[in-house]
Amino acid sequence: MTGRVTIFCFGLLVAAAEALVLDGGLYHLRAGDTAEWSTFSAAPHGPSYELTFESKPNAVPWTLQWRQQDVKTRWDVWLNGEVMGTLLEDEQDQIHCLEIPAGALQAGENRLAVVQHVGKRLLVDDIRVGEFRLLRAPRAQVLSTSALAFTLRGEDGGALLPGRIALVNEEGVLMPLGSASNATMAIRNGVVYTATGQGRVMLPAGDYRVYGGRGFEYSLDQQHVSLAPGAMATVDLTVRREVRTEGYVACDPHMHTVTHSGHGDATMEERMITLAGEGIELPIATDHNVHIDYEAAARAVGVRSHFTPVMGNEVTTSVGHFNIFPVADGAPVPDASGKHWDDVFRAIGETPGVRAIILNHARDIHGGFRPFGPAVYDATTGAHRNGWRLQANAMEILNSGATQTDVLQLTRDWMIQLNRGHVMTPVGSSDSHDVSRYIVGQGRTYIRVNDRDPGAIDVDAAMEAFVAGRVMVGYGLLAELRVNERHRSGDLVTLDGLADRVTVDIRVLGPHWVEANRVQLFQNGELLREESIARGADNTPGVIWTGQWTIERPEKDVHLVAIATGPGVEGPWWRMAKPYQPTSPDFVPQAFGCSGAVWIDGDGDGK
Ligand SMILES: [Zn+2]
Ligand SMILES: [Zn+2]
Repeated sequence: MTGRVTIFCFGLLVAAAEALVLDGGLYHLRAGDTAEWSTFSAAPHGPSYELTFESKPNAVPWTLQWRQQDVKTRWDVWLNGEVMGTLLEDEQDQIHCLEIPAGALQAGENRLAVVQHVGKRLLVDDIRVGEFRLLRAPRAQVLSTSALAFTLRGEDGGALLPGRIALVNEEGVLMPLGSASNATMAIRNGVVYTATGQGRVMLPAGDYRVYGGRGFEYSLDQQHVSLAPGAMATVDLTVRREVRTEGYVACDPHMHTVTHSGHGDATMEERMITLAGEGIELPIATDHNVHIDYEAAARAVGVRSHFTPVMGNEVTTSVGHFNIFPVADGAPVPDASGKHWDDVFRAIGETPGVRAIILNHARDIHGGFRPFGPAVYDATTGAHRNGWRLQANAMEILNSGATQTDVLQLTRDWMIQLNRGHVMTPVGSSDSHDVSRYIVGQGRTYIRVNDRDPGAIDVDAAMEAFVAGRVMVGYGLLAELRVNERHRSGDLVTLDGLADRVTVDIRVLGPHWVEANRVQLFQNGELLREESIARGADNTPGVIWTGQWTIERPEKDVHLVAIATGPGVEGPWWRMAKPYQPTSPDFVPQAFGCSGAVWIDGDGDGK
């Protein structure tokens, strides 16, 4: 890596705010009556945290700072009997600052408490919170004592690139920043997405590790910087394209904005910046029951040349969520009030333009309904009960915003559907509603179509390839499958009458900051062969493992699927989220890549 750091003083006389450590401990709180995660202790501090401390009254706003981990639900922060704010609903390890209004602190004893928000019921949530500090200055001042300018460049030619900068302290904790999102940056605690490859943020004085990346296909750079109060540093970061995906476009077919979905936190402008920063080339806008066009926003932010936006819709019903795209300009929004799949799919079928219908997060429960749950679905045969007919031509096997406890669960479900003759395209997506809590494009689908100009992708051709299953699903890894040297995902292989063997070439791809430790080949959903992958098995950048296997000629028609798995990314540069609806307190994060299906005409009837 060739980045560098320069530091100078920007001449302002800035004093760090006077800080009072209220409590240096970090406490495990457990809401609900069962453990959420087995990595937390069996004996929590309690369901809530309370502290009394001495203070002076505050004539001007002061700042309460804390560290928090694994916060999934809403927790209120109480001060002297009033709710002052909440913990951030974000599982990432981070420091957060809350402004305390003038007059909220009283002379003598003050009481601080952190309690899960009293809603309908206590939701199971294991969190850690603590390291409380009181800073005698308003939040904006506390967070703006120093400045950091950055550039992010590509190694070939040194062009500035959109990307993602992560800023952590020496313990790897995301740090709060004094700057807010603007026309070219989307900012959250410790995270800056840049549309232009350069920018400047205000931040508290301290020691930082600064990471620069540009999503799955690129290397990661890092620098250490020490900032005194009043100092400004410049960090130059460089990334290299590592994962070669020529002939494929990076598509995220499931994403939201707070602007049009009403929850999460990414505005339209922030979504454009984050898409460019993660290298997504074909984003599908899928807010709930609306048709949103990203075109104008992408142009306004200046990132339109990095991707070709497609208008879609997450048809959000009481009997499942289905992503549909493309929707024609001016197409009416399909009626989402159906209580039976036949009604929902009829409404979708009447929507002009639609070619892809994805069954989303089939194992998750929404509004009491789980598409692949026992009420309507037999998980061993893949049959739906009561005459329900799934009329989707694709299904999510990986949703990085709502991962499964078992990373292969939905892939097995998908292969069972293929065995039943229901051919669906496997899909990786992010379902991100946020800038940083869930990373847009982390789960993604590579579609085999001309990718030379990401700003001018042939959407018709991409849709045709998508529906035909010419895809790979990526979540930190890719598994590329070739049968008899030339047949790839979505292809039908006809066999030479005499051949009694079939050759299978598999490549596992990923950047150097993701590892793979297993590659598997499935035939009609049954594990046919697997191998563990040693570290450094292949030295080509972006290629983790290459292998050729020969398998026996199948006598009947079969589908082959290659899958790669490895340890999940837990670092602050691209942290993979814990399961959204876990089925066990034991969880090991895993990176995952899956080829599409290659079909072999084993019985020679041409089908
Ligand atoms: Zn959904
Ligand atoms: Zn969604």
